[in-house]
Amino acid sequence: MTFASFRLDPRLRRGLERAHYVEPTPIQQAAIPLALEGRDLVGTAQTGTGKTAAFVLPILNRLLSGPRRRTRALILTPTRELAEQIHDVCVQLGEGTDLRSATIYGGVGQGSQVTALRAGTEIIIACPGRLLDLMDQRYVDLRSVEVAVLDEADRMLDMGFLPSVLKIIRVLPKNRQTMLFSATFDTQMERLAAQALHEPKRVAVGMRAPAETVSHALYEVPQHLKTELLVALLNAAEKDTALVFTRTKHRAKRLAAQLQRLGFSVNSLHGNRSQNQRQEALDGFRRGKYQVLVATDVAARGIDVEEISFVINFDMPDTEDSYIHRIGRTGRAEKSGRALTFVTREDDAMVHRLGHILPGGLRWEKVEGFDYTRPAPPPLPQGARHFRPGRGRGPPRRQHRPPPRRDTRSAAPQPRPASGSHRPPTPSAPGGSHQRPAGQGQGRSASPHRAAHSGAPGGGRRRRRGGAQRQGRSSHRQG
Ligand code: AMP
Repeated sequence: MTFASFRLDPRLRRGLERAHYVEPTPIQQAAIPLALEGRDLVGTAQTGTGKTAAFVLPILNRLLSGPRRRTRALILTPTRELAEQIHDVCVQLGEGTDLRSATIYGGVGQGSQVTALRAGTEIIIACPGRLLDLMDQRYVDLRSVEVAVLDEADRMLDMGFLPSVLKIIRVLPKNRQTMLFSATFDTQMERLAAQALHEPKRVAVGMRAPAETVSHALYEVPQHLKTELLVALLNAAEKDTALVFTRTKHRAKRLAAQLQRLGFSVNSLHGNRSQNQRQEALDGFRRGKYQVLVATDVAARGIDVEEISFVINFDMPDTEDSYIHRIGRTGRAEKSGRALTFVTREDDAMVHRLGHILPGGLRWEKVEGFDYTRPAPPPLPQGARHFRPGRGRGPPRRQHRPPPRRDTRSAAPQPRPASGSHRPPTPSAPGGSHQRPAGQGQGRSASPHRAAHSGAPGGGRRRRRGGAQRQGRSSHRQG
């Protein structure tokens, strides 16, 4: 199937060419024809499936006929990053048109948003809070809205936007088209759909299943060695980009600072950062200024960066959905990527649950030469502070780094202990062979393809470019 089969307005061809979209993704194949018919739609699709273009293309197509410089499409979205990302898709795909889109979100001054609204814009992409503010101030006129989209609706509800969303929907014209996209669909979503949509068609793509192009590795590591393990993996990754997730904003902040002191080009994305700081972090990560971006779940929503080589769950996500969202940032649009998850004693139950949702299975891997048995440092007396490398009398930046590849790249995936025990893995000899000993490291989900690859993220990625292969059911604790 090609985009030509949708019979889109020829003015959209230029944008499609510029975006290098050749074949519609499954969600686009399913949603675009229905959306073009003007049907209400519930799409269950996660980030990374191409869902943005699935609603942006039909919107642009529709708006090409009819009046200009009045708001005819409203896209509600949970975060500013996501709003900017959707705006970028509107600009890119709408390149051959004179249609305008504007973003509206909090955390920045409202001046430029008001200016854009005054100039007249056909598409508004908004976070609910600021939109309501501007509606109250009478800067926004939604009486001409023909199409409304609730994007990442599950996350909007998670973030407490339901009352605002309902308030906004109530002022929209009744005879509009409404599309709702969500990675998950529960009873709360069912209720929202019943209130906001009219006899919607349902389209489910990749429901609760991560992108096929991502491989999933687990690294068992004691809590106190997580940072060092991360450093070993990043050193081995060389120039590959890594998105690292922590559980809290404080952990994100602290980890980013530690990595920076160790000489990595790193920035962070979390709730305590201003909009400008977030934008700079994202732009820098996109452009390659930063090799590592440390983020929390909420702040990372909507990150659209091509070619994130690997996502590292420094802290285990709380839910399967969160895992899927996090790793949706790698392996996008047919590109292969790796998801690496650090596992401590507390994460057993979650590992088990993940085993059920990953059709290709999880693999336990180890960084060879890494000393997993090092004890935790003794607690400091009150008032004392840990010596932090890179500060004051510490060694100069990066000098401590081991030469890339020698220590970590030789890391062949190792089998996990077969039992449910969390015995610390025995460290392997540094500089070990690149060849896995016969029969080792191939759990039930092992593919022959993967057997040869290094436990280091960079090496694995390069070798897998030919396409990920998978076998068998997922398994927890394979040995
Ligand atoms: P999304 O799920 O909308 O965030 O899209 C994920 C990524 O897929 C983005 O980088 C898009 O540019 C890309 N993408 C969307 N549709 C296509 C397509 N038909 N062909 C290739 N890439 C696409």
